[in-house]
Amino acid sequence: MPKKVEQCFECGQMVDKNALGLNKKLLGENVSKFFCLSCLAENLGVSVEDLIAKIEEFKREGCKLFS
Ligand SMILES: [Zn+2]
Repeated sequence: MPKKVEQCFECGQMVDKNALGLNKKLLGENVSKFFCLSCLAENLGVSVEDLIAKIEEFKREGCKLFS
């Protein structure tokens, strides 16, 4: 059995832990589709830099979804 890796629903790129956490934060804990940072940014109409800033913000809050 291949190890399950989350892949971007749109482009198939691997979605890392922080991007995964951000998906859950922004789209809901129970989402079944995940997006990589660039597709997520595009979907939300923001820039990747904005998302990275968000991740940093959540990390500072001590959110366990991010490393
Ligand atoms: Zn993508």
